[in-house]
Amino acid sequence: MKYKLPKLPYAYNALEPYIDARTMEIHYTRHHQAYTNKLNEALEKHPETAERPIEELLANLDAVPEDIRASVRNYGGGYWNHSFFWAVMGPADANATAGPSGVMNDAIDKTFGNFPSFKEEFTKTASGLFGSGWTWLVLDENGKLAITSTLNQDSPLTKHQKPLLCLDVWEHAYYLKYQNRRQEYIENWWNVVDWAAVGKNWAPGN
Ligand code: MN
Repeated sequence: MKYKLPKLPYAYNALEPYIDARTMEIHYTRHHQAYTNKLNEALEKHPETAERPIEELLANLDAVPEDIRASVRNYGGGYWNHSFFWAVMGPADANATAGPSGVMNDAIDKTFGNFPSFKEEFTKTASGLFGSGWTWLVLDENGKLAITSTLNQDSPLTKHQKPLLCLDVWEHAYYLKYQNRRQEYIENWWNVVDWAAVGKNWAPGN
């Protein structure tokens, strides 16, 4: 099986003005495509690995043949992380501004105090990440909501955490529009978070 780019659920310009169309297009057609191609190249060397879902490979990296382990970690992580990232964003609307609802909202209040405190902590974590990586809201190994960062293209799946929301804080995700202003990118990004999608990721059984 060969991995293909997942269809982007919206147009390149759908997240404007917070994420510009040019950045979306390059990010998706070049960066995400490159991770996908390199993942496929690695898996070709061990066809049996291509039969297993990428989530399973990332969750059991030690079981991946050593000569492709770093490629699966980096390119498989890049493939999966970006696929997940596109799906937790959507055009800015009242839903994004209002934040999570229902049980997801209750869980965020219980863990972080309230929604603004959660946003503040997540923003602080993402802006403080040194180098390239991702910031996540996950259910951790104990099933508790937690904010965490991963370096490079590492995946929370490798730590047996369940990802709910993520933010790409590699410079390629924001540099064209924001240059070195990562904090501004993060603050604007909140406008395009699709909380309905995050709620579905959280729902037990998913
Ligand atoms: Mn990226």
